[in-house]
Amino acid sequence: MKLDALPIEFQGAMPVLRDLQVAGYEAYYVGGSVRDILLNKPIHDVDIATSAFPAEIKQLFRRTIDIGIDHGTVMVITDDATYEVTTFRTESTYQDYRRPDHVEFVRSLKEDLKRRDFTINALAVGIDGEVIDLFDGLSDLRAMKLRAVGNPYERFHEDALRMMRGLRFISQLGFTLDPETFEAIREYHSLLAKISVERINVEFVKLLMGSSRQAGIKTFVESECYIYCPGLSEHGEALLRFADLIGPAIPTECQAWTLLVSMLGLEPEQIRPFMKEWKCSNQLIKEVSQMVPALALRRTQDWDNWQLYQLGRELAVSVEYLMIYFGEKPNQAKIRLMYQNLPIHNLQELALKGNDLIQQFDYPKGPWINAVLRAMEKAVIEKELANTQESLLAFAHKFMEEEYHD
Ligand code: ATP
Ligand code: MG
Repeated sequence: MKLDALPIEFQGAMPVLRDLQVAGYEAYYVGGSVRDILLNKPIHDVDIATSAFPAEIKQLFRRTIDIGIDHGTVMVITDDATYEVTTFRTESTYQDYRRPDHVEFVRSLKEDLKRRDFTINALAVGIDGEVIDLFDGLSDLRAMKLRAVGNPYERFHEDALRMMRGLRFISQLGFTLDPETFEAIREYHSLLAKISVERINVEFVKLLMGSSRQAGIKTFVESECYIYCPGLSEHGEALLRFADLIGPAIPTECQAWTLLVSMLGLEPEQIRPFMKEWKCSNQLIKEVSQMVPALALRRTQDWDNWQLYQLGRELAVSVEYLMIYFGEKPNQAKIRLMYQNLPIHNLQELALKGNDLIQQFDYPKGPWINAVLRAMEKAVIEKELANTQESLLAFAHKFMEEEYHD
């Protein structure tokens, strides 16, 4: 099979492949971008594989950066873009079911394609547009089937992460798993325990965010891979309920975790330890910890000003969107408008400051300042109090009398 026309992203990389060929080496477009082009999906990065060894690649191009010299990857910088050029390689020695500790550079494309995970990821395209298909990846693409290259048991035994990759491709592409590949995942699911959480996390998030997450999550549960993922071993049923939610692909990672945690029914204090186990960033944990209770509340009642103010516009809009998965039409425009109409958006906008309070009340600095500010803030947001110096001062006096018997 030959591509009618090379996509624009491939055309941009053409001079790099041509220079390699002119120097007597082989060079091809490989990996996810080839798969995605054939599926008419947008591509993000163009990967190039070549028979040239890293030192030879570096000799050929004026500007290069070593980005993974041990793995044979050199970044080639052209006037318009940068490309990752990787030497054909085999991965012969696998220890502990993880990534190989050393790779061997080879001159043969076939050897390189053989070590790739799935047939649809083991296609190569030459600069003439010819598709090199040594493992029937094209017919699997047409049949929308995900099949390991070679013997699936061996391939998952070599690198157990491939099982998670398989599940996320199911979710992203809407493909079905070849029965033998599925059986191999089911048999070897426990090998996932050997894989670092960081690597599993990357695939898991893609699994959650795929447009066929229903099938992806179901297979994740059926293959029992979930048992070997952080904090999920007791949650098979909840994961299936998550899979049953109807709605489009989840747009952001933060929304994906929020929906997951909500479906798992974790208590607020369990969110942080759960996400820490998954090695999520503190920023992400913070946002999800705010969004989960907000979503729970939103499912029982409409937004109120105080909730909106505390959450902030972006997180509130993001929570509102999630209502789509519970059969409600999100009204994000309404949330934006409501937020815009809040009397204040932060403490700085309050017409009375901490310093004004200190001047008014002859008290030493202390927690009372914050208590007054907090009470004023809430009353203003709930529109019980006007945001003017005069009414805030009156409120402060009354508050101090009641709370501090001033
Ligand atoms: P994405 O579109 O998400 O980037 P991808 O298929 O390009 O998907 P990458 O992680 O970018 O995934 O890997 C590029 C290519 O390298 C894959 O298409 C596959 O051929 C090969 N590959 C990646 N990870 C593995 C692995 N663990 N085992 C075997 N081959 C792999
Ligand atoms: Mg890729």
